[in-house]
Amino acid sequence: MAVYHPDAYRTDRKAPSYWEATAVVPPAPRLAADQAADVVVIGGGYTGLSAALHLARDHHVSAVVLEAGPIGWGASGRNGGFVSLSSAKLSAEAMIARHGEAETRRFYAAEMEGIDLVRALLAEGIDADPQGDATYEVAHRASVAPALRASVDFHVRKLGLPAFFMDRHAFTKMGHGGTEQFGAAGLRGAFGIHPLKYLAGLRALVARHGAKVHADSPVIAWTRDSGGYILTTPGATIRTRTVVVATNGYTPDTIHRAFANRTLPAISSIIVTRPLTEAELAAVGWRTACPVSNTRNLLFYYRLLPDGRFLFGGRGGTSGSPAEQARVTAWLTRRLGEVFPPWKDVEIDHAWNGLVCLTGRLTPALGRLDDEPGVHYAFGWHGNGVAAATWAGRRIARAIVEEKGRPIDLPAPLRGLPPHLGHPLIRRVGLKAVYAWYGLREPQ
Ligand SMILES: Cc1cc2nc3c(=O)[nH]c(=O)nc-3n(C[C@H](O)[C@H](O)[C@H](O)COP(=O)(O)OP(=O)(O)OC[C@H]3O[C@@H](n4cnc5c(N)ncnc54)[C@H](O)[C@@H]3O)c2cc1C
Repeated sequence: MAVYHPDAYRTDRKAPSYWEATAVVPPAPRLAADQAADVVVIGGGYTGLSAALHLARDHHVSAVVLEAGPIGWGASGRNGGFVSLSSAKLSAEAMIARHGEAETRRFYAAEMEGIDLVRALLAEGIDADPQGDATYEVAHRASVAPALRASVDFHVRKLGLPAFFMDRHAFTKMGHGGTEQFGAAGLRGAFGIHPLKYLAGLRALVARHGAKVHADSPVIAWTRDSGGYILTTPGATIRTRTVVVATNGYTPDTIHRAFANRTLPAISSIIVTRPLTEAELAAVGWRTACPVSNTRNLLFYYRLLPDGRFLFGGRGGTSGSPAEQARVTAWLTRRLGEVFPPWKDVEIDHAWNGLVCLTGRLTPALGRLDDEPGVHYAFGWHGNGVAAATWAGRRIARAIVEEKGRPIDLPAPLRGLPPHLGHPLIRRVGLKAVYAWYGLREPQ
């Protein structure tokens, strides 16, 4: 049983989105012949493609990526395109309390490396429409601005992040106006991209370095075989000694007993308007190409796209049914008009959703299984995986080749499997409770 409505898992068709409508994504063949591979990666998002790319390019190990749907079907093909922090939902303060300052600094250093890595990969010839030189988190109420300013100081002083604070007046001059803008925290160096063009570019790099990607090839059975594994897809099987599980919010509970009930997928939804005119942009004082989110517990994230359309995203419901998605689209459209009143009646051209992945400890999970050293995993990006998943793919590649037979030297917040979370129904009900709790605690 899956956590959400079957529609959320339909890999037999492309996932429609503004990105899908504006990118050329060459298809990949199904796995059609039985074969063997050094490494098999399950999941063809940023984690899986980055692992395969770095295995092939940096370590000369050829991997085969098996993707259940068409190329770009998962969250990597339909996200907001923020290349930013943080892949943990745990606050930096709580992380320091749990893991100490040194390990928390290592975690954030890895996150910043992830942003640099995406930029470096773009420089290798991926045209993914990079935009902006920072991302911003906007105080949605005057009452939260002092805490946001204090948080910036903390992140700079304790963690060495390139963060800065702008008061409402300063941010109005370079960012935007609207009813929910009371100053902003910026992160220098973060930026926005076309996520599906980035994914397609990664896939092209993977191919250039000799690794193989098979689309429409879900792993439907995974069995042990004389020291290795046989992975079965509908078209053929593949033998290997080393597997990377890179399925994040789409991880089937049945894929392997070690991963059952360890992920909490959550739905995130996006709407995209028709192109806005200069006059419409001026009406809300929109001036920035930088991606923005806000300080709500259940946050909104938004950005102006290169063709003048406005992307607005937020929480996406708790069932994943088409009827609920229609209600969420209507709600996001209403909220867009409340935050930016001049855009109240602007037409919405695209709406879609996808699954992000939370864990029970609110930090991502990277590693290899203690009792099956051939099985590696990386998941749990808490809705911020563009940079972090790319980084994790590279890190897992290195671990496979250079840290065989010894523990992987990771920042403590990332290490090992997160706790079990219970049956899918319990997880869905639990998420509803979390949403209600967050909603009640929303600063007014
Ligand atoms: C609406 C939305 C907005 C978001 N916005 C942002 C953002 O602005 N910035 C940001 O950093 N992050 C954002 N995220 C999160 C980000 O997209 C993810 O963290 C990231 O893409 C995860 O990459 P991944 O490779 O780990 O997983 P995915 O990209 O989800 O890929 C996992 C893949 O595994 C495949 N799979 C599952 N089971 C099997 C199987 N049995 N066999 C083979 N393949 C299988 C799936 O088909 C899927 O394609 C957003 C996510 C969503 C949904």
